[in-house]
Amino acid sequence: MKITVVGTGYVGLVTGTCFAESGNDVICVDINADKVKKMQQGQIPIYEPGLETLFHRNIKANRLQFSTDLQKGVDFAEIIFLALPTPEDEDGSADLSYVLDVAGKIGEIIEANPEANYKIIVNKSTVPVGTAGQVTELIRQKTSKELDVVSNPEFLREGFAVDDFMKPERVIIGTRSEKAREKMRRLYEPFVRSGNPILMMDERSAEITKYAANSFLAMKITFMNEIANFAEKAGADVDMIRIGMGTDSRIGKRFLFPGIGYGGSCFPKDVKALFKTGLDWNHEFKLLKAVIEVNDRQKKILIPKIESFFDGDISGKQFAVWGLSFKPETDDIREAPALYMIDELLKKGARLKVFDPEALENVRQKYGDKLQYASSMYEALKDADALIISTEWNVFRTPDFEKIKGLLKNPVIFDGRNLYKPERMKDLGFNYYSIGRQKVEIPRKLWKEF
Ligand code: NAD
Repeated sequence: MKITVVGTGYVGLVTGTCFAESGNDVICVDINADKVKKMQQGQIPIYEPGLETLFHRNIKANRLQFSTDLQKGVDFAEIIFLALPTPEDEDGSADLSYVLDVAGKIGEIIEANPEANYKIIVNKSTVPVGTAGQVTELIRQKTSKELDVVSNPEFLREGFAVDDFMKPERVIIGTRSEKAREKMRRLYEPFVRSGNPILMMDERSAEITKYAANSFLAMKITFMNEIANFAEKAGADVDMIRIGMGTDSRIGKRFLFPGIGYGGSCFPKDVKALFKTGLDWNHEFKLLKAVIEVNDRQKKILIPKIESFFDGDISGKQFAVWGLSFKPETDDIREAPALYMIDELLKKGARLKVFDPEALENVRQKYGDKLQYASSMYEALKDADALIISTEWNVFRTPDFEKIKGLLKNPVIFDGRNLYKPERMKDLGFNYYSIGRQKVEIPRKLWKEF
């Protein structure tokens, strides 16, 4: 099939590349001319495991092209995907201007082409209920040619995006048009050969499903963070509680790891957008309001622990920060909890030397010389008063603790992701503070003896 994907970001590039990989001819359109030029020269603009191989293979096979020309993309394709940003607006709702603007232009382009045949415009962006209707109306104002608008929310996770796209647990297609359903089914069938379902539903249900799924996951994380904070106060160990809960198959083991809150380009904005859409429909999501508040607090949960260790004053202290991306295996720093913590530490006069395996350049662009940047995890530690861990990259899980102790000024680690066992840290002679577990404090006179 001939496919165009408008918006070549984390979702659009993976979508376009994976559709090319299953034999379709794909044009990825983006408004960012620099990005398009780089992709045309064979440079991949994001870090996403496994994507680069597919990207090069499909460019070489002439199945994957890049362009800034929307008209070329629309004229070329039978199915046009919108993978455009829907960022948070000032009032917390989803900003639909990117989607609606492109939809209007697509209507004009279809109308202007006398040879235009039936087209499907598929919305892959996360959008509030009713958007498919709005897009249809907008396009219909420009053209009366045969077309359908479909809602096809995307569930891929950054860091696993290629796997998630190639082997989705389910595909959701929201449309009442039989013709569109059939074409969409044919397009997605190669990705669900092991039997995972392609779920057909109406547009509105598809739109809400995406927000409901993300909000539920954000709520699950947040619930566990609340339990962790309580367990810590009550002298318990959240790791034990997590395992005790997770072995109940009704609850499940995943998304129960406490930490310094959820972040990223999806959960924060999607929870807020669902809350706001609820209000628009005269429905108050009380639960989501609490999720938003608790998560905001959680992002800074390590700060009082750090301040208390340094007797209430961290001004002039030097900290090493490991992990900046909002989660491991991505260079995406949008709404990363690490950055909220960094802002707070800077406000309090601390100096920070940061390290991340993939996100350092994105952070450098945002913070410039407000931070120092380390080229290795150990370099960040030199002369630091303490180590702070904010993202659970695998490379941080089994470090050389002797080396850490040799480089840090004080043997102290503030771990926002519970990477190490408190008992082990005690044996190793570290003061160790984590989330929902008892702190390890070594008397100062013993610091040198370990
Ligand atoms: P992104 O910011 O990474 O990419 C968006 C791209 O659209 C950018 O390359 C931008 O230059 C381009 N763009 C903006 N305006 C344009 C225009 N007028 N014409 C052509 N291109 C234009 O965004 P993303 O993370 O890929 O997210 C896209 C949508 O998918 C959002 O609604 C998001 O909520 C949703 N989503 C994201 C993820 C994820 O993990 N990132 C997962 C599922 C769903």
